[in-house]
Amino acid sequence: MRTHHLHCVKNHYTAVVVGGGPAGSAAAHTLAKSGVEVCVVDRFRFPRQKLCGGLLTQRAKKNYAAIFGPGWEEMYDYRCNGAKFFDGERLVNSIYNYGELYLCDRYRFDARLIDKARQRGAELVQGERVTAVDLRHRVCKLQSGKEITCRYLIGADGVNSVVANAIHNGKTSRNGKAFALEATLPAAALSRKIAEPEIYFDSIEWGYGWIFPRNDVVVVGVGGLFSKNRDFRASFNTFYRNRFGSEFAGVVKGHFVPFGEYSRGMGRDGVLLAGDAAGLVDPITGEGIAYAMQSGWLAAQSVLEALSGKSKYVNAEYRKRCAEITGELAYAAKIRNFLFSPATRALFITALARSASAPRRYMELMSGELTYRELLKNSGRKLLRLAADKITGT
Ligand SMILES: Cc1cc2nc3c(=O)[nH]c(=O)nc-3n(C[C@H](O)[C@H](O)[C@H](O)COP(=O)(O)OP(=O)(O)OC[C@H]3O[C@@H](n4cnc5c(N)ncnc54)[C@H](O)[C@@H]3O)c2cc1C
Repeated sequence: MRTHHLHCVKNHYTAVVVGGGPAGSAAAHTLAKSGVEVCVVDRFRFPRQKLCGGLLTQRAKKNYAAIFGPGWEEMYDYRCNGAKFFDGERLVNSIYNYGELYLCDRYRFDARLIDKARQRGAELVQGERVTAVDLRHRVCKLQSGKEITCRYLIGADGVNSVVANAIHNGKTSRNGKAFALEATLPAAALSRKIAEPEIYFDSIEWGYGWIFPRNDVVVVGVGGLFSKNRDFRASFNTFYRNRFGSEFAGVVKGHFVPFGEYSRGMGRDGVLLAGDAAGLVDPITGEGIAYAMQSGWLAAQSVLEALSGKSKYVNAEYRKRCAEITGELAYAAKIRNFLFSPATRALFITALARSASAPRRYMELMSGELTYRELLKNSGRKLLRLAADKITGT
């Protein structure tokens, strides 16, 4: 295993990855596997906490297998076959016996991924924050004062990315992001047993609430578009009280999540953004882990192409490869207007309650078997009919 002591770290690498989450690990693993000298710099030491519901879909499973190979069974803590969808206390729909959903603790999940990258030969500098990047010369400045230069730089440093900030000249706004509050509670302390993920559409503006089981703990959270909500803490407290019949008394933590606004350029000048740093989170479900792994992998593939001389323009190549993700997120953003807007939300709930196939479609979306583009095409007419019924009162 490679060392992380700063005095052993070189001053130059072929590639530097800022951030060792799922995006950074996927990029580093892919590059190291192909023999590229790559160094990952993370501000924390692994294992480290990451606020997250930890829900892993079939898409995440497929991406993991394509990038890291075997070992999926070690990556999660809980598995279930369905989900329940609520509007207030009303169960509007549910699904059982569909594929599988997995729930992980990011503390272990991320540590295992970064270990896989290290085992392939990636170096890891941990407990060192990148404080600034010089894009033109591709220099990472670390908090200790050390500087590392590289030929290619992958910014996988999450939603508050220093690398993305440098690329966008500090012009990233919070308004296009969601904010989420979450608490992890002992399952035994709750008034009822949670066996599968529960999604609540009434709990916050332009977002949802969730209760996710994970063996002996349960994760409770609310998240919604930052610009549409005033008091996230009040929303969380109300959500908890309504679900469990008591006041919340534990520790709740908050974090921003990209929610529809992704980077158009995905980087520049040999600097590539991946995962949350690029804004690659589904603006309806909030799923980001699968896209983080996928984009990290695509960034590494683009670097490999450039190194082999097959492609001259690494950024254009990466943008092209990412279109399979960004195209979908753009369709999802359109559909989201219908799902979350106060004007049409009730229609969506009616459609969800009436439809025998809606939960299945939801799961298919989360597995990548159905695309948002196909969904929009197939459901557009049905929704118009439903809207007409509502207006005419039939
Ligand atoms: C409350 C909440 C619940 C969520 N639930 C889910 C869910 O159930 N399922 C799902 O798929 N997604 C979920 N997400 C989204 C998911 O967490 C992210 O999309 C995913 O973690 C993105 O991975 P990443 O590798 O891009 O970034 P991250 O996982 O954020 O990793 C970034 C890494 O960069 C490091 N870093 C940051 N800044 C610096 C710096 N300056 N220098 C060096 N290192 C740095 C960090 O320490 C971190 O290790 C949730 C998000 C939140 C906030």
